[in-house]
Amino acid sequence: MKIIFFAVLLLTSICCKAQQDNAPNIFIITTDGFRWQEIFSGADSAILHDPHYVKDTALLKQLFWDDNADERRKLLLPFIWKTIAQQGSIYGNRDYDNSVTVANPYRFSYAGYNELFTGYADPKIIANNKRRNPNENVFQFLNGQPEYENKVAAFTSWNLFQYIFNKQPSCFYLNSGYEAAEYDSASNTAVLANGVQTIMDTTVHTRNDMLTFVTAKEYILTKHPKVVYIGFGETDEYAHSGRYDDYLQSAHLFDEYLAQLWYLVNRDPFYKNNTRFIITTDHGRGQKSSTWFRHDLFTKGSNNTWLMTLGVPFDNKGEVKTKGHIHNKELAQTIAGLAGFTFYSNHPVSPTTITTAVHPAMASAK
Ligand SMILES: [Zn+2]
Repeated sequence: MKIIFFAVLLLTSICCKAQQDNAPNIFIITTDGFRWQEIFSGADSAILHDPHYVKDTALLKQLFWDDNADERRKLLLPFIWKTIAQQGSIYGNRDYDNSVTVANPYRFSYAGYNELFTGYADPKIIANNKRRNPNENVFQFLNGQPEYENKVAAFTSWNLFQYIFNKQPSCFYLNSGYEAAEYDSASNTAVLANGVQTIMDTTVHTRNDMLTFVTAKEYILTKHPKVVYIGFGETDEYAHSGRYDDYLQSAHLFDEYLAQLWYLVNRDPFYKNNTRFIITTDHGRGQKSSTWFRHDLFTKGSNNTWLMTLGVPFDNKGEVKTKGHIHNKELAQTIAGLAGFTFYSNHPVSPTTITTAVHPAMASAK
């Protein structure tokens, strides 16, 4: 009798493990406050030639300038325009009347990330304060499902995510700001990245993006999380400092991180053919050469964002050149839909037009 009991137990556990392994893997990657203008047109000539914002224009032009806008954007963001444009979809080019916007009126980062990951443009969330977010996010929701339990992990450069995601002992794995990543079987590289963090000259509220990338990558290789969020922050930091050259360099590195992550998931049997990417930003910035560095309620252009999707079952539309509009608040339900769920919570959750367009499984969502 005992033997039968243990055999059933073993089979159930093998079955659950297989169910978890087969559940779709979802990577969401953001870079803070990066403008749609640079995504679709590359370096902006007016800002590039302004000595207030660029120390060495000739050098920056060598790296990122071409008179042809298509070539120019490829110089800045080669993976996006060579791979995602071929294999995925890129939304938000207003030159074709295709737009992606935030629904919250404030256009700050806390409000922006809350909107993206809770599906709710909460009017009560305004400033970037160290205040615990009362709204449940889609990562908490997925971590509560058997298929994704303890298989959700987030890595962010900005330390305020501890509050935005309301980090608790029962929370999904979250590594944020200059926080050491400690977990079982951490690789030597992960331990080294932790060590580098402790000797940085300045450890402000936003961690160096490269450290966020290395920390995330090592965890992915070791622990194989199924839902991964990586939030980079340098594009916003350099923009606020008025350093357009460093803003572009950060964006170029962001593109490189995307390429490396895509390569990683396509060579790892755990992820191969069962991983999709969603790439976006939390807010736009000023649209003029005199306002590009800031974003707020009053700066025109701050609500304009963009969105990219890559990997089956997303459509392969390339650069979307048809009229359309997506709100950032649709993302939370899109993420849940990719996993086969409908996200219900303690607050309203926006429906999504992205999922119905791209994921037939939504029709049979739980
Ligand atoms: Zn900002």
